[in-house]
Amino acid sequence: MAEPLPVTPLFTAEHIAKRVHVMAEEIAAAIQRQVMVVALLKGSFVFTADLIRALHHAGMHPEIDFLGLRSYGNATVSSRKVTITQDLSDEVAGRNVLLVDDILESGRTLSYARNLILARGAQSVHIAVLLEKPGKRAVSIDADFIGFSTPDQFVVGYGLDYANRYRELPYIGVLKQH
Ligand code: 5GP
Ligand code: MG
Repeated sequence: MAEPLPVTPLFTAEHIAKRVHVMAEEIAAAIQRQVMVVALLKGSFVFTADLIRALHHAGMHPEIDFLGLRSYGNATVSSRKVTITQDLSDEVAGRNVLLVDDILESGRTLSYARNLILARGAQSVHIAVLLEKPGKRAVSIDADFIGFSTPDQFVVGYGLDYANRYRELPYIGVLKQH
């Protein structure tokens, strides 16, 4: 197995934990309803695990479901297509959904997920992302709750991967030599 490449820390575990708790308070204050959290796999699983416990502290008691999406295609980001790798297991019709993803970049993944959930009859969809890269949007979509803005560099850790590795890092950092 190849040695991991060095990673330059960008957001420490403490920094992330503090922000996630504040985000949960923001979410609880803004959405005063029963929500169904829909976590986009795989990248958001670590963030979602921390966020739902912070939501509990903030007084929310969400249901949880998972949606696996993959964006594929080569060369340009604008030619990418999104497909379902693992569908939801629960009904979203009539529910207030909180979509959770790791990072909002072109917006294609979250746009696809939001359209799917609305097409299945959800009553409302809010979006929470840990990271967003400003100025990178290819489709018009905004997150309601954002952890951090991050520079236009490839980041890994805290669920985010490079070739399905580095997800276990407790912090978020930039892969050197990428
Ligand atoms: P979008 O569809 O908004 O262009 O991209 C969102 C998805 O691309 C994220 O869910 C994530 O999987 C991936 N992605 C975008 N930027 C990065 C990055 O800097 N690092 C990693 N690991 N994944 C990224
Ligand atoms: Mg992803």
